[in-house]
Amino acid sequence: MRSLYWVRTDLRLVDNLSLIQFCESSAEGMIVWCPSSSYSRSGLHRKTFTDECVDAFSRSVALHGQFLNLGKLSFRDELPRWVEEHEIECVYYTREFACEEIEEERQVLDWCGLKKIRVVALDQGTLIAESDLPFSLSKMPFIFTDFRKKVEYSLRIRAPQPAPLLWPRPIVADSARAVVLPVSPEKSQSSGEEAAWNRLDHYFWKSEAVRTYKETRNGMLKDDDSTRFSPFLNQGCLSARSVHDELKKYERMHSANESTYWVIFELLWRDYFKFLSRKHGKLIFKETGLLTTPLRRGRADPEVFRNWCAGLTEDPFINANMRELNLTGRMSNRGRQNVASYLIHRLQLPWTWGAAYLEEQLIDYDPDLNWGNWLYLSGRGTDPRAREFNPRRQAEMYDPGSLYQMKWNGKIS
Ligand SMILES: Cc1cc2nc3c(=O)[nH]c(=O)nc-3n(C[C@H](O)[C@H](O)[C@H](O)COP(=O)(O)OP(=O)(O)OC[C@H]3O[C@@H](n4cnc5c(N)ncnc54)[C@H](O)[C@@H]3O)c2cc1C
Repeated sequence: MRSLYWVRTDLRLVDNLSLIQFCESSAEGMIVWCPSSSYSRSGLHRKTFTDECVDAFSRSVALHGQFLNLGKLSFRDELPRWVEEHEIECVYYTREFACEEIEEERQVLDWCGLKKIRVVALDQGTLIAESDLPFSLSKMPFIFTDFRKKVEYSLRIRAPQPAPLLWPRPIVADSARAVVLPVSPEKSQSSGEEAAWNRLDHYFWKSEAVRTYKETRNGMLKDDDSTRFSPFLNQGCLSARSVHDELKKYERMHSANESTYWVIFELLWRDYFKFLSRKHGKLIFKETGLLTTPLRRGRADPEVFRNWCAGLTEDPFINANMRELNLTGRMSNRGRQNVASYLIHRLQLPWTWGAAYLEEQLIDYDPDLNWGNWLYLSGRGTDPRAREFNPRRQAEMYDPGSLYQMKWNGKIS
């Protein structure tokens, strides 16, 4: 069979069910990556990180004699030409969760249906597969704690699968770029599948920072305060199942504690927001959110918003976080909660403006997690208590010597 594998946020060889099935079922195969709509909204840091992960993937498949064909347009727009030029009979891809990505899948399915092309769409973006949830999406518990208790009660996490051993004969599109770009050693250490496994190896096995995760996870200054797996999870360089599997190995070797459990607890938050997004579609991205009660309109002042984006508010703690984001594309979870709360409650700006700005900037941007967390904090999601943080008190608790603020507000290098 001549098949095509549409790589999306599953840029890895290990535990990639779509890639495994593609390899097992195809005599000849074409691997393609195309920019998504969200990619066109990336700022510099996010775009660079994505490009580096795509490059890393193209180098990995090249070691198996394969080519990564890069489309210039969206997959939906490139697909007809590729199918015609290469007589493709089957398309493989991984299903996403957010409405824009699902809409593209629908268009691909419709077109393939018309042309009688087989489609194999697999679910592998979460720790727990949708089919292993103890409820249907329509009956998914509204509140996270109820969701967690139910899934933990009948927890089924599938074992990660090794990388494919046998590969199809590669198909290279004439019109697409087949890339193996030279990447500097410095870059290859921070992006792609190998970098993801190096980070996991460091956090679990070398530094064993995982032993104290629960106590350090709110820290803002040190690399090992939290796992820093999110950019890799969201590009799919690492699967949540692989993280879980490695954590269980660590627990067997060194014993479990509250911190090792807490990593899984956070991955369940990730699953919760992903399934919430799949369930509620467009509503996740609307200012009114999941509620039908009237929206309390704030002031939609572009100048106030620009100052928030630039880290020029009246609050040094908020500014430090925004400057870290603007300079690196990173921000801690504690920082995100605070800048979001400040935008929503203190500045009274529409929460969707803040979410759209973080979408542009974050290297670990994920539609379900970013918009889901903003929605949650806005009080228009599944937590009707709008959570307001006092940034001065938060700074005292989480940056007691002000070192973090001094670092990003330019007082020390
Ligand atoms: C306003 C706001 C926007 C956010 N936007 C994103 C985003 O675009 N992409 C993203 O990956 N995370 C987002 N988060 C969640 C969280 O801030 C990041 O996942 C976390 O900071 C990533 O760092 P880490 O990998 O070291 O996390 P760790 O603390 O080490 O957690 C381990 C993993 O658990 C998951 N996780 C942790 N916290 C959350 C959470 N609150 N919600 C869902 N999953 C979580 C992540 O996959 C993370 O990698 C957002 C949170 C807020 C408050």
